[in-house]
Amino acid sequence: MLSRTAAIEAIAGQHFEVVVIGGGITGAGVALDAASRGYSVALLERGDYAEGTSSRSSKMVHGGLRYLQNLDLGLVREALLERQLMVQLAPHLVYPTPFLVPAFPDERRQRGLGIGLNMYDVMATTRVGRSRREMRSSKDADEDYYWSPDRHRTIDRDEVLQMVPALESRDPKNAYLFYDCQTDDVRLTLTVLGEAERFGAVMLNGAEVTEVLERGGRAAGVACVEAGSGERLEVTADNVINATGVFADRIRPEETIEEEDVPRISPSRGTHVLVARERLSTGSAACIVPAGEGRAIFALPWYGRTLIGTTDNDFEGDIDHPRPGGEDVAYLLDAVNEFFGVSLGAGDLVGAYAGVRPLIATGDPKKSVDISRRAELYETSSGMLTITGGKLTTWRRMAKQTVDRLVEREGREAPCHTAEIPLGMEARPEDLEAPDGVGEKALEQLAFRYGHAARQVLDLTREDPKLAEPIVPGRPDLLAEAVIAARHEQARTVADVLLRRTRLGLLAAPQLRDDGPARAVASALGGELGWSRREVKRAAEAWPAAAAEAGIDPAGSPVESLQ
Ligand SMILES: Cc1cc2nc3c(=O)[nH]c(=O)nc-3n(C[C@H](O)[C@H](O)[C@H](O)COP(=O)(O)OP(=O)(O)OC[C@H]3O[C@@H](n4cnc5c(N)ncnc54)[C@H](O)[C@@H]3O)c2cc1C
Repeated sequence: MLSRTAAIEAIAGQHFEVVVIGGGITGAGVALDAASRGYSVALLERGDYAEGTSSRSSKMVHGGLRYLQNLDLGLVREALLERQLMVQLAPHLVYPTPFLVPAFPDERRQRGLGIGLNMYDVMATTRVGRSRREMRSSKDADEDYYWSPDRHRTIDRDEVLQMVPALESRDPKNAYLFYDCQTDDVRLTLTVLGEAERFGAVMLNGAEVTEVLERGGRAAGVACVEAGSGERLEVTADNVINATGVFADRIRPEETIEEEDVPRISPSRGTHVLVARERLSTGSAACIVPAGEGRAIFALPWYGRTLIGTTDNDFEGDIDHPRPGGEDVAYLLDAVNEFFGVSLGAGDLVGAYAGVRPLIATGDPKKSVDISRRAELYETSSGMLTITGGKLTTWRRMAKQTVDRLVEREGREAPCHTAEIPLGMEARPEDLEAPDGVGEKALEQLAFRYGHAARQVLDLTREDPKLAEPIVPGRPDLLAEAVIAARHEQARTVADVLLRRTRLGLLAAPQLRDDGPARAVASALGGELGWSRREVKRAAEAWPAAAAEAGIDPAGSPVESLQ
């Protein structure tokens, strides 16, 4: 990615064919789609890339078995097709995980679930995800490249316990086994942005759009405030795309709120918590956990921790800084405690976070759990296009739908290419050469997170062995990643590195109470960005407030006091 200084220069006072507001997965997707069809594109993000909902998802690239219950078949089918495509386009970053639905001796088998899983299997059949037999007989068969999930099946007690030893005390009878995929949502967003830049898009974070410029009643660009200087920059554009997710109706509210036929955004909060695997391990599989009233949550392996989520409740609090709710944390812990027969408390959490879904209210009084995850694209009177709702999984479809509309209204001939554009470049850990001091875990994580670009991180550790040190003792994230974040990913703050470029804020929050990691990261950032010693100190000192604002450490700041 261009440095911020270069991006400001490339954007300020310039004209583009498309300006995108919002640097979450949707905005990133629109930038990639438009740029790869030949449009000149600028993207502006007010905070950090993926700082909104796109860093706060459940990290699943999935069809959403749950949405079958609502008979949202189109959405599930679409998401399943995208799931398969994402494994193909970003094999280092999107990976299949076995999901188990265990059954216990005193329980009746859930027949409805079996039917649902059959539908899930059938709906996942694609040209991309052709059956394995078909793939093997095809000329370009390469099983590593084309992932196609096995059909769901029932596994017996022994296999369940082999996969999820934590269920031993519950003595499971058997389990349904099916597959979905996982990722790192921020990395996916950054990777898509990186590809967009390869096609010529220019992006800038710390650039809050405060005004949509108008010419003859038509949206003709935007004005934004650049965070570093406080200066107002203008960017003129033929087309303005509002991809600000749950904040979409703040952009030109006279259009996005007041015009008739414009869908209403109805925020819903989802809380997640993470615990060490020593306290609760689901092995390499995910488990669906009943949580009362017909609801289910999941416990899944993620970056060597167990991620537990999620809640889904209408939310009227501060959508700019959603934090895990105390009651939600208790609800999640109660459900896993009962299911696995453990006794986890707030003191066991290594991290927590909450996100707000940009759900589209339909006018009928459904609870947010039942509201569709469909995307909405709408054009308001100035010609501005707003794309919101949807899912992390369906970003590419949402982007295509948006740019198709542009192409159509301009009468261009410009087909979409994103189904064929690889996202980053795959590298396997064994392809990477480890310098002294860089262990196997770090290599694995670097290959997952950066793909081929992991080599740049490793080169830095060769130039300066101090950068091979972990940011947090015992975790595989390297100090060199803070340097890469500043040099190539426009990171500006310690929180950018600890919450998003690495995910240490979610994986090791209690260890970040100590000021050592924040100081090390601030100093690495300062070295790249030319900060004075005072600026480095100030950056490190800003971390505790950022951590509290995100609510990542409920035991450090008691959950009861949180909203
Ligand atoms: C709890 C939870 C769990 C989820 N789990 C999953 C899952 O497992 N799988 C899945 O597929 N989907 C999941 N989703 C849905 C998915 O995360 C979202 O649909 C997706 O991230 C939305 O992306 P977005 O880019 O539209 O919005 P955002 O990521 O919120 O991006 C909008 C961006 O716009 C920026 N912005 C706002 N105002 C301005 C302005 N004035 N100027 C410039 N920039 C601005 C914001 O800072 C933000 O970065 C989940 C959602 C939640 C809340």
